[in-house]
Amino acid sequence: MRSHLLNDLTAEHYRRSVTEGVERVAAQLATVKRPFTGITVDALAPRIDAVDLDAPLGDTTAALDELQEIYLRDAVYFHHPRYLAHLNCPVAIPAVLGEAVLSAVNSSLDTWDQSAGGTLIERRLIDWTAARIGLGPAADGVFTSGGTQSNLQALLLAREEAEPGRAGWEGSQNLGRLRVFVSEAGHFSVRKAAKLLGLGPDAVVPVPVDHDRRMHTVALARALERCRRDGLVPMAVVATAGTTDFGSIDPLPEIAELAAQYGTWLHVDAAYGCGLLVSPTRRALLDGIERADSVTVDYHKSFFQPVSSSAVLVRDAAVLRHATYHAEYLNPRRMVAERIPNQVDKSLQTTRRFDALKLWLTLRVMGADGVGRLFDQVCDLAAEGWRMLAADPRFDVVTQPQLSTLVFRYVPAAVTDPAEIDRANLHARKALFASGDAVVAGTKVAGRHYLKFTLLNPETTTGDLAAVLDLIAGHAEQYLGESLDRAS
Ligand SMILES: *Cc1c(COP(=O)(O)O)cnc(C)c1O
Repeated sequence: MRSHLLNDLTAEHYRRSVTEGVERVAAQLATVKRPFTGITVDALAPRIDAVDLDAPLGDTTAALDELQEIYLRDAVYFHHPRYLAHLNCPVAIPAVLGEAVLSAVNSSLDTWDQSAGGTLIERRLIDWTAARIGLGPAADGVFTSGGTQSNLQALLLAREEAEPGRAGWEGSQNLGRLRVFVSEAGHFSVRKAAKLLGLGPDAVVPVPVDHDRRMHTVALARALERCRRDGLVPMAVVATAGTTDFGSIDPLPEIAELAAQYGTWLHVDAAYGCGLLVSPTRRALLDGIERADSVTVDYHKSFFQPVSSSAVLVRDAAVLRHATYHAEYLNPRRMVAERIPNQVDKSLQTTRRFDALKLWLTLRVMGADGVGRLFDQVCDLAAEGWRMLAADPRFDVVTQPQLSTLVFRYVPAAVTDPAEIDRANLHARKALFASGDAVVAGTKVAGRHYLKFTLLNPETTTGDLAAVLDLIAGHAEQYLGESLDRAS
């Protein structure tokens, strides 16, 4: 069994195994004709349940054969041009290469003595990202598992920074007085973070959005004023640079102004919009982000990186001390004086993947402009898609996109009952998924069911969008036809 552990003696086995796996995936990718096979839970679960985990196959080829049946054949493939659902991107090959390297070397980024060069590479990428944002010379940050964790950490720092120096602050019994302002279109991880941070049930104040789903700054100003008047503490304003549904970017300069006026931490959730940092044509959409106290970026959304690859950046490195705890066995306090760079001092995680390597190789092979041009292409595609939808009487489209999502719904001329239209759209999404021809997402707007395209694949064409819209209309019409039959 020792032959299965990677070391100098097993290099040949490693090479053969991994190559065989790569060959399988490459062959599979070549045969994928649809983003999904449409397999159901009921069909797939018994196959996975039937595997006897206590009876190993002992052989890579056999294990890959089995994997083909239980996973590869029926996986949802994000690289397919008609996968249009969530914020999943096709992945850059240099990043996939990075994934292979990082898991083989298996550095753990918590301490210098477990990662050496990896620590420095991660730090360079943090500095690079902070410079792109414009956070200034004292900036710092750390890679995280995703936007959810980045938002949690940012709000932890905001909570700790809200505490000292505030009149009447008496520690934890005052957690209930802290308020976090985020737009109605912001991400639910903000509410989850508030819960984890022990804030009260009313801690997250939803701020209304305008017609374009951007935070209403007049409403924010009013909410901040009300907070102050009520003797509550405005802990943070979370501006979203690219909302998950609409790709809308909150008015960052105005929000930064208000945050400064009320002495409130400004967090910018750019989990989705961070791709603009490298866009050759659209960087200006992020103007104002440089005034943030902290920023979330998800490279695994708009930098074409495999899951996971994310970071939280801060304007002032010193605030990361709120995440610093020392353990004698790992990162004793004296190491700080010795200037040994232990990334665990900045992170919520301990053992941590060297995800930064993927971005590093991507930048070294493709360059930032190369990544940015790809993101520009999907934003251009979304603009085209919006024109198509706006001109198509079968559909109602919600907002003109700033990034690369489209929220719309099928609206048959002959049907006026909004609940029936809801059902037709829900049915269309489900039927499309079951067919495997395309995968789209859904969301609710003003209580009604809508469909969503999230475009992150530069291979997707307007022809694909047109074809998927026809499929959606077809499924919805079929549903409505059958619904009429049922009624009569
Ligand atoms: C996706 C997303 C998140 C959560 O990021 P994960 O990487 O999925 O944890 C947070 N905020 C926004 C705006 C997002 O789109």
